[in-house]
Amino acid sequence: MDEDDNSRGGNRREDGDNPRRDDDTEAGDTPAETSASTEDAVSAEDIDIQASIGPDTDTPADDLDQHKDPDVGLDKVVLNDDEGSKGLFDDLLAGEPIFENKEVLRPSYTPHELPHRTDQINQMATILVSALRGETPSNILIYGKTGTGKTASAKFVSQELESTSQKYDVPCEVEYINCEVTDTQYRVLAQLANKFIEKNVERIEAEQDRLDEMRTRATEDPNALAETPYDSIAEIDERADELAADADEMETVPMTGWPTDRVYTTFFDAVDYKERVVVIMLDEIDKLVEKSGDDTLYNLSRMNSELDNSRISIMGISNDLKFTDFLDPRVKSSLGEEEIVFPPYDANQLRDILQHRADVAFKGGALTDDVIPLCAAFAAQEHGDARRALDLLRTAGELAERGQADTVEEAHVRQAQDKIELDRVVEVVRTLPTQSKIVLFAIILLEKNGVRNINTGEVFNIYKRLCEEIDADVLTQRRVTDLISELDMLGIVNAVVVSKGRYGRTKEISLSVPIDETEAVLLTDSRLGDIESAQPFVQARFDN
Ligand code: ADP
Ligand code: MG
Repeated sequence: MDEDDNSRGGNRREDGDNPRRDDDTEAGDTPAETSASTEDAVSAEDIDIQASIGPDTDTPADDLDQHKDPDVGLDKVVLNDDEGSKGLFDDLLAGEPIFENKEVLRPSYTPHELPHRTDQINQMATILVSALRGETPSNILIYGKTGTGKTASAKFVSQELESTSQKYDVPCEVEYINCEVTDTQYRVLAQLANKFIEKNVERIEAEQDRLDEMRTRATEDPNALAETPYDSIAEIDERADELAADADEMETVPMTGWPTDRVYTTFFDAVDYKERVVVIMLDEIDKLVEKSGDDTLYNLSRMNSELDNSRISIMGISNDLKFTDFLDPRVKSSLGEEEIVFPPYDANQLRDILQHRADVAFKGGALTDDVIPLCAAFAAQEHGDARRALDLLRTAGELAERGQADTVEEAHVRQAQDKIELDRVVEVVRTLPTQSKIVLFAIILLEKNGVRNINTGEVFNIYKRLCEEIDADVLTQRRVTDLISELDMLGIVNAVVVSKGRYGRTKEISLSVPIDETEAVLLTDSRLGDIESAQPFVQARFDN
């Protein structure tokens, strides 16, 4: 657990120098055009964009004022010692609680039952059972879109495998790595090395304890030696020294700094320290390959030919069905010895999954009849994503709870759907690179000015003005067209190509997300926030 947290922390630090962001921060060095030249270029038909920005600048402030509700004066909040509380929470607690155990609906919860995944789980088990016979299982690749139960099934199988190996005392171990978090070869190898070093050290210590005990008994009663594998106390001491030397050699890998070769060798030696079959689960393996190429997989897949005592088998899990296209053919054929596909759930399957969880998560009678079918139907549209279905159900419950309703109703599910969709949009917009944000802002301004059938040229003109206003680099119209396509793929705008007869073809762009919320998110960006306060007016020409 600790290791996971460490690597996650390290991850964040590295994310800071994401090359894409660098581009954007460098953009500020372009000399600003003078406001005079900007104004020169403006003609009488120009539309004053500032007019449309103006009223909205006030909105956040209004909101703030509302939060500073004068009715909640400080004097009311002061605690009275005699009474202990002023009942701030009493009303909230009073409503009949909807949830019995909300945790069950969270993504972190690992369900004990996985309806509609029996086939996939059995396929995995059939392949991995070799590990319990001391043989090397074939490598497995698992494919499926997000929320199709890949991680949950893989974790379930790995728990079963480990507990069975303990039951029959066969040396088989499973290591799970989430490559979205541990996303470089160094980190993957370091994490594996350290896990095996930890296990080895635990083993060594346990054996040292047993030796100590043997030694004590043998010193008291020499006949006790007969029950040990050793012929003399000197032999016990010799073994103890050997173990101490082994333990000394087990040096954990630091999170950065070593040459990759050394990390690899350390991992290799740590796994090979004793006889065992190791299954390495690489979840979100597509993220690892996307970020760091296929070196890790190449190195892992050729290890078996060099290991003396142990064997490893790889189980890769990918959300991207085509990720093997980017792999070295040797890696591809080794990794894909067996392939298992997780198809999307349909609405009926999602209903079952939700029902199982809801029985534990909610109080009896807390859900009206149409709640689960509606959550299932919404999530089925969202490529059969069980995670989405569970989020919807949990959020609907929370909204009902917040509204102090007695039961969760269809309306709560619809509200939850809107809320989750909006949260997604906010997150996507918030994390866009600055240039894309400016392009999106240009589209918003056009829509707010009532422009219909917005085309790329219009977007580009406004975009250019905005860049000048905040001293950002101006990209070419071609690049801006690409950025619009990206926004389209993210579902933020809708861009359709229309034919203009002999004038060729153009794109017609419209916003597909709520305009006010999106604008508010954009303006929280410190650079775009400058547009608000920008003087002189941002003005622009609409070409049609
Ligand atoms: P993936 O790894 O394919 O993106 P997960 O395994 O993380 O999907 O599943 C997403 C969520 O849905 C998790 O909370 C998981 O517990 C739940 N889930 C998925 N499939 C099932 C199932 N068949 N039964 C119960 N819960 C499921
Ligand atoms: Mg997953």
